[in-house]
Amino acid sequence: MHNSISGDITEVSSLSDFDNHTLVSFIEDKESGFRSVIAVHRANPEVPSFGATRLWHYTDSIDGLKDALRLSRGMSYKAALAGLQCGGAKGVILLPKKDISESERALFIKEYASRVNVLGGNFITGIDVGIQQEDLEKMRSVSKYIVGFNNNSTEFTALGLYESIRTALEEVFNSSDPSGRSFAIQGLGKVGGGLLDFLYDTAGETSKIFVSDINESLVEMTKEKFPRVIPVSAEEISKQEVDVFVPCALGGGLRHDSVKDFRVKIIAGGANNQLEDESVGDDLHESGILYAPDYVVNAGGLIAVFDEYDHDTYSRARVETAVRNIPNVLKKIFTESKLENLATNRVANRMAEKIFNEYAKTR
Ligand code: NAD
Repeated sequence: MHNSISGDITEVSSLSDFDNHTLVSFIEDKESGFRSVIAVHRANPEVPSFGATRLWHYTDSIDGLKDALRLSRGMSYKAALAGLQCGGAKGVILLPKKDISESERALFIKEYASRVNVLGGNFITGIDVGIQQEDLEKMRSVSKYIVGFNNNSTEFTALGLYESIRTALEEVFNSSDPSGRSFAIQGLGKVGGGLLDFLYDTAGETSKIFVSDINESLVEMTKEKFPRVIPVSAEEISKQEVDVFVPCALGGGLRHDSVKDFRVKIIAGGANNQLEDESVGDDLHESGILYAPDYVVNAGGLIAVFDEYDHDTYSRARVETAVRNIPNVLKKIFTESKLENLATNRVANRMAEKIFNEYAKTR
């Protein structure tokens, strides 16, 4: 168990997710118990690095650091393939325990925002797991480097996910129509729940939509709003025999030992870092399961907040147009994957790295 997040600095740089991060900052206030990591993956001095903030309790704080590193790296890939002129970063607030009081929460949120200010606009952040819109507003009262107010960015994540699912259906079934297809959605939070707003009616009465969340009340609320969904336990959701498995909870759910249990044709979800490691993508490819790379699928939220940062006025049509380009990127990945018999995540990584490397040459 690691009590300190900074630990031995050589230990940090030897983590597999370190990947030569430009900056990793550890923030700790012993008096209040506030602790946080801000990681900036590939800083580009001309543009800021974007990455939402996660608020979570990790039993071992080194897992919070690893989460920040991996998520930040993923943001660089996401930005590159979404065609955005920004780097990748991530903020994680490490809760000392699962449940904290409202006053502690408010204190941590404000303390965090004041530390974001220290980075002077090189790090722009918004909402991720564990953060609510009210928290974001509190952050904004302290820092101008907080985004996610012009629009509901999560709605665009869900839209991008919906369009990605349609693209994957087209690839596998020669029809993007979700009607009559079957789905298993893991996680009914902002993204998983938001997806149902798009999918439920278009999938229609002949479809089957299995859902699961560890938060029982969220399952009940979802069942009330979308009566045809079929709740199953957290253990059973990934074992359903369906056309599409849709991971919308936390990352790391696609593991070597779970690939054999999947009875699905497609995996396309909003969760970040779904693959335990890149070679799980190879296993999925060999098993004939079409994996839509997570950071391509879930780029809608980043596209929306980047647009907010980049423009003085909001245009929903402009954001939607950019989000609706996600299927074009996915189609290219699926085509190259087929032509080269290479896992889709490998193809996507290669495409994104080509973009980084070209930028590096111009520096
Ligand atoms: P959220 O906190 O609103 O929802 C996550 C849900 O997953 C919660 O309801 C939680 O109870 C549930 N959950 C956790 N573990 C679970 C398990 N084992 N089985 C079933 N349910 C479980 O978060 P969100 O904003 O919906 O984000 C979901 C995922 O999408 C995260 O990985 C996040 O990083 C990623 N993501 C979100 C956005 C966005 O716009 N919000 C953008 C890109 C990526």
